[in-house]
Parts: sequence; C-alpha cells; structure tokens
Amino acid sequence: MKLYPTIGLEIHAELLTKSKVFCTCSAEFGGEPNSRCCPVCSGMPGTLPVLNRTAVEYIIKAGYTMNCKISRFTKWDRKNYFYPDLPKAYQISQMPRPVCLDGYVDINVKGAEKRIRINRIHLEEDAGKLVHDESTRSSLADYNRCGIPLIEIVTEPDFHSADDVIAFLEKIKLLLQYAGICDCKMEQGSLRCDVNISMAPKDADKLGTRAELKNLASLKAIERAIDYEIYRQTEIIENGEQVEQETRRFNDSTGETSTLRSKEDAQDYRYFPDPDIPPIIFTEEELDEIKTSLPKMPEERKEIYVKQYGIAAKDADIIISNKLICDFYEKCLETYNNPKSVANFILGELMRRINLGEADMETLPFGAKEFAELIMLGDTDKINKSNSKNILREMLETGDTPQAVCDRNDYWVKEDSGAIEAVINEIFEKNPQAVEQYRNGETKVFGFLMGQANRALKGQATPNAIKAMLESKLNG
Ligand SMILES: [Zn+2]
Repeated sequence: MKLYPTIGLEIHAELLTKSKVFCTCSAEFGGEPNSRCCPVCSGMPGTLPVLNRTAVEYIIKAGYTMNCKISRFTKWDRKNYFYPDLPKAYQISQMPRPVCLDGYVDINVKGAEKRIRINRIHLEEDAGKLVHDESTRSSLADYNRCGIPLIEIVTEPDFHSADDVIAFLEKIKLLLQYAGICDCKMEQGSLRCDVNISMAPKDADKLGTRAELKNLASLKAIERAIDYEIYRQTEIIENGEQVEQETRRFNDSTGETSTLRSKEDAQDYRYFPDPDIPPIIFTEEELDEIKTSLPKMPEERKEIYVKQYGIAAKDADIIISNKLICDFYEKCLETYNNPKSVANFILGELMRRINLGEADMETLPFGAKEFAELIMLGDTDKINKSNSKNILREMLETGDTPQAVCDRNDYWVKEDSGAIEAVINEIFEKNPQAVEQYRNGETKVFGFLMGQANRALKGQATPNAIKAMLESKLNG
C-alpha cells in the first residue's frame, strides 16, 4: 500500500503599515522592548480600538493578488485564550466573515503547472513575544509586536510534497512583496507558516489523521520538517498503528519533529463578535479603486520582458524573482532604454558581485541612473567594454559615478587614429614575420596582431577602431 501525503498551509504575514492595526503605535520591526506600545495594544481595560484603514486596504490587495472573492460585508470577532504574550486575553480576529474567500494561486513545480486553492484570508492582530532568560529561569514579555496587523492565508489541502509547498511559498512571497504589503522576512517573523500534514493511500475516500507543524522559521526548515513527517507517519501506519492528531514542533539541529500538544489540549476559543469594531460594508467603487492601485505583478512584468523586450524566459524569471532587482532593472531603462543590454549586465556582472557578497541590492552605493550610464558608455564605445567590470567594481567600492572612475583611471577611449596607428606601426616592426604571413594569405595571424594591439592600447581604443586600422594597414 503506497501512502500519499496531503498538506495544507496556514500562512501568517505581518502587514507593512506604518502603525498598528487598532492604535497609532509604530509597527516598525525592532525597538527597545515595550517602547512601541500604548494602553490599547497592551490591553488595558477601558480602551477602545480603532481599525487601521490601510491594513484593510492591504488585505484586500492580498486577496486580489490571490484571485479571491472580496466579501462585501466583513466583521471582526474575539478569539479568547490566555497566554502571557497576549495581555488582553483575547485576539481580535475574523471567524465567519473574513475579508477574502475562495481564491487560487498557480504555481510551477519543477516544470509542472499546479493550482493551489485559497480557502480564506482574514485580518487579525499579532501577539507579543516572550524572551526566555535561562540564567534567571524567568520569561520577559515584549509587547512591541502586539497589535501589528497580520493576515492569515489558509489554503485547501492541495499540496502533495515539500516541493509543492516551497514553490507556493516562494510565489506567495513574491505576490506580497510586489503588492508592497509585506516584506516577507522569515528571519524576523514577518512571514510564518504552519503546516498540516497527513498520509493516506492515493485513492482513499478519507484523508488520514493530520499533524500540525508549528513555528517553522525558514523555507529550509519547512522542507525538512515535511520530509521528516512523511517518513514518521508512514512508519506508524505501516506498523499498523494510528497517527495521533496533535501539534508538533520541528527541531532544527536533529531534523526531527516532536509533540508540542495533543488534541486533548485543544482549546475552545469561544469566538464572539467584537463589540468594539463595527462591521464594514465595502462599495464597488472602493474595491475597484484598491484593485487598480495594485502595481504590476511579477508574471505581468515577465510577459512584457519576454514579448516586448525579447528577453529569454529563464532570464526574465531571474529578474522577477527579486523585487529589488526587478525595480532596479526598470529604473535603469528610464535612463538607458536598451532592455537586453541592461538585462545582460545585471544578470552577468551585478549578480556575480552579489553572489560573491561584494554587493547587496538593499545597500547599493549608486543609483540605477549611474549603473545604466555605465552600460551606455560601453555600448556607445566611449569606454572599452572590457573595462566595464573594473569600473563597476570601483563604483561598488567608492560609490563614485562611472564618469569619475573613468577620469581617475584614464579609461576613456581615445578616438585618436594617429595614436592607434603609431602603436600598430610599432607592433609591425616587432613582428615582421606575422605581417608577411598575413599578406601571404595566412589570415589566422590577424587574431595575434589584434591581441597585441589591444594589449598595447590598454582599452583606450575600441576593438572596432583597432580592427579597422589593422585591416587598412595590412591590406593597404
Ligand atoms: Zn498601541
């Protein structure tokens, strides 16, 4: 009996609003513990929450990027539970009337197209953070994150491997980043994912008993945890035993999952409508306005690059896979509208520097304008292209403009034919044999003479100018 995994996801994404979802405290990441909270988000009695309009706009944008239906009527509920990181002892969330329902996201898993259905996306508030101090055997509570707007994306159980899940999460990250609503930094907790997984024979009527994997902090951890859980549940079922329904945690150092709490501990959250937050009824005009304010999504940009610019699909995929690079690329085209040449230099030299750790898109010391000018200087023979790499390296080190780097190093091409001719005369004098061979029809020595001239002129003349001069002198 071959067993087949079925997986569903619950993804939490913190929204990039300036302030929190029910108060005006800063929603920025970090800060001294408890420096970004007020009576509302730290749960003092008698305070009243006020819903952040931008957070509502952002969840609607998220819904549109994932092809969801947007509820015309939406409302908020209290999810009651006690935990030290939740000072109010309830979380404001949405139960029966979430903002977004019934969407889908298409993904490509190793060449195969798959459609993943989205069950719902709702808006809620994040909880705080507990810091456990081993030395004093105590826990400290930091409420800075309390009340950060959070969307929860719940998928249908449409995944059947770790590869499916990773491809989906990478796509979701791109959609949220391009829409400008989440920075998706898993290491800072702004994107988190819980995984529900069960095993059953392929054509079984009923899914197997599922385990929920919580607190997975990276794509790598998600992949390893799923693979381990497939192995663990398969062993149990093949031994004729029952998988327990429970919540499990993943241990990064052992690569194994272990019980966090069992079904018996499952909580009854006693949801009821939040009396402090009025429901919202959206008008068609409001929704249309939000929809049209969405920037171009990665797939749409790729289509333009491939169909209009003639960029290879695999190159376009690399450009869109990072929003910073993609925006930088489009900004470069405003200065120098040569999409292919700009793409080649980004994918070649700039990516190489990034991969070597010598450059970082977030902290590039020059703008797209300067970068585009460097490419243009090479394409228009103002500099020798072979110097472009050196110039880029110096721009990264100093932040100088390409013009300043060329001035300093005397990289400008000299259109001085007298100088080129003098150098070539010298080469002919040193290599009379090669000249004779060429004139006797052995044209392959041309490359040798060309190489000598290139070296002697050290990038101060374009290969075309050198070639023309060489040809005219050899044949003349
Ligand atoms: Zn606050």
